[in-house]
Amino acid sequence: MTVERFEFQTEARQMLDLMIHSVYSNKDIFLRELISNSSDALDKLRIESLTNEAVAMPSEPKITITADKETRRLSVRDNGVGMSREEIIENIGTIAKSGTQEFMATLAERREKGEAVSAELIGQFGVGFYSAFMVADRVELITRPAGSEEAWRWESTGDGTYMLEEASKPEPGTIVTLHLKESDEDTDDYTSEWKIKSIVKQYSDFVSYPVTMLVEREKKDDDEGVLNAQGKVVTEERLNSMKAIWRRRADEVEEKEYNEFYHNAFYDSTDPLETIHLKAEGTQEYYALLYLPSKAPFDLYMPESIRGVQLYVKRVFIMDDAKELLPTWLRFMRGVVDSEDLPLNISREILQQNRALRAICNRLTKKTLERLDSLLKDDREKYLRFWNEFGPVLKEGLFQDFEYQKNILEVALFDSTHSQGKTTLKEYVERMPEGGNDIWYIVGEEKSVVENSPHLEAFRQKGYEVLLLSDRIDPIWSSNAPEFQGKKFRSVTSGDLDLAGEKEKEEQEEVRKKKTQEHGLLLTRLKEILVEHVKEVRFGGRLTSSPAIVVSDEGDLNPQLEKIMRSMGQEVPTMKRVLELNPNHAVVEKMGSLFEAKKDDPLLEDYAWLLYGGALLAEGEMPPDPVGYGKLVAELMTESKSRGSKSRGLRVEGSRAES
Ligand code: ADP
Repeated sequence: MTVERFEFQTEARQMLDLMIHSVYSNKDIFLRELISNSSDALDKLRIESLTNEAVAMPSEPKITITADKETRRLSVRDNGVGMSREEIIENIGTIAKSGTQEFMATLAERREKGEAVSAELIGQFGVGFYSAFMVADRVELITRPAGSEEAWRWESTGDGTYMLEEASKPEPGTIVTLHLKESDEDTDDYTSEWKIKSIVKQYSDFVSYPVTMLVEREKKDDDEGVLNAQGKVVTEERLNSMKAIWRRRADEVEEKEYNEFYHNAFYDSTDPLETIHLKAEGTQEYYALLYLPSKAPFDLYMPESIRGVQLYVKRVFIMDDAKELLPTWLRFMRGVVDSEDLPLNISREILQQNRALRAICNRLTKKTLERLDSLLKDDREKYLRFWNEFGPVLKEGLFQDFEYQKNILEVALFDSTHSQGKTTLKEYVERMPEGGNDIWYIVGEEKSVVENSPHLEAFRQKGYEVLLLSDRIDPIWSSNAPEFQGKKFRSVTSGDLDLAGEKEKEEQEEVRKKKTQEHGLLLTRLKEILVEHVKEVRFGGRLTSSPAIVVSDEGDLNPQLEKIMRSMGQEVPTMKRVLELNPNHAVVEKMGSLFEAKKDDPLLEDYAWLLYGGALLAEGEMPPDPVGYGKLVAELMTESKSRGSKSRGLRVEGSRAES
């Protein structure tokens, strides 16, 4: 028989290298990974047997563990779907997973720092099979695909190559045999019966196939079994309970059991924040057990790698991540839905059109939102933990799902100028001054930037509260937000502001008019200079201490949204904005007198660019020519040094109006 030698694909080789040479805080999970591969193989076989007559489910589907202390071997055997030669090369020799590079970078970084890598990280990523190399220096796999006579033996020491040869195997399925490394501590003895049992209990108790172990016992008088060469009785013990916890009555399940199932089924060792368990009867009969995790997985923003909610039909696992069961903005939820009515051989395509499923999805969405609502009311501290992890994802629903906009706004939390903590909209509205009609907000990329934005000066002075929106998702929903309790969302950066009272408004308007008359030509000159960038230069009423800001006209696309759309490859025209000057700022008078003396004083150009650049910087954006901007500032600094601040009293920021 010919033995062929293959090289692992580069990424696979790097991953193996990390597996072998890193320190892991919990190596036990390798067994869970092998068991779940076997369980997957049985699932696949079952699904295939529904449509392919050439394959059949074995009469006793199971996963069997055997350990041998003498030879330090541990094997996991299943009678599942097996693999063909091509499938071995494809599945075991390569890694085709999104996020591999990021994941490996994390591992490499920990290794460099000498830190241990925790098992959850591996579990989350699901490098499955390779985790065997944490504990074995040689791994062997013999497999025969269902519906075929061929069988193959694969073997590797994880050193970059593997070998493959033809083999023979009496029944379909796979046996993975680990040649365990020498262990120095007792706790690491993976041939110990006790150790194996406890790992299976901890991680694989709910696996829906029996996980059994062959164990040797001293022969007792009433034993019937066969004796082995050592004169001992070999029996097969089942290690997992397989109890479908979601089918039990909610009042009979303890929190501990819920948590255990969660850890086991969703590879997260932290306890979930909340559990929702329900049974639906009537037109649709199904069981649902949903979990609100307490930590976001590292791939929360890589939607294609989400595991989501598992779909079962009559206790039989159908698929992971049944996307039709919850909207994408609840993709952080984990859980199980077990239907009594759906057909077993339901495919993803059919799922999408299935009405019954849509009804389940609506019900689960409502239930989840209801739970969030009561959590917000009953335990704000816990709710905050949820919000900090998943708030931005939930907010995606605000523009994806108009049906739930209102419910999402009810439970959304926001930073605000009111206090350090977060506020709900209801609380915001309660604090509104009499007659207030608007929910004011500002959007930007960083909280620290929006918080200090000059746009807020007038609002602060008036004591108006403003919501500070700095999540990536905020520009998208906020520009189109629905009303909340009859109040409109309004951006502080767009349109004309009318914050002042009647009398004050008149006074302000008076000042504005007077200044505009006085400096009308100057404004035109400034606009000429900046014409490529702004559509208007005018006096505004928003500023008290800053000299200038940029604002959008009502109805214009806001610049954050513009950026997001562009980053998604959409063509959007650049919206010119308005440069609003503070009519009471000393720099206006200064420019006024320069302009009086010499209409085309080049210094005016410098001033225009400085004001515009400074206004952009205050929003966390770049001036059009950052290098030129820096030079300009330096030139003016040295000028003023040599000529004295009297002659060119420009201070770029914070110079108060002189009255
Ligand atoms: P994952 O299980 O996350 O896909 P693994 O590295 O654990 O990643 O396994 C890679 C692939 O190898 C699996 O997707 C499966 O196709 C195949 N495989 C692994 N173990 C078995 C097995 N016991 N029976 C059949 N196929 C298997």
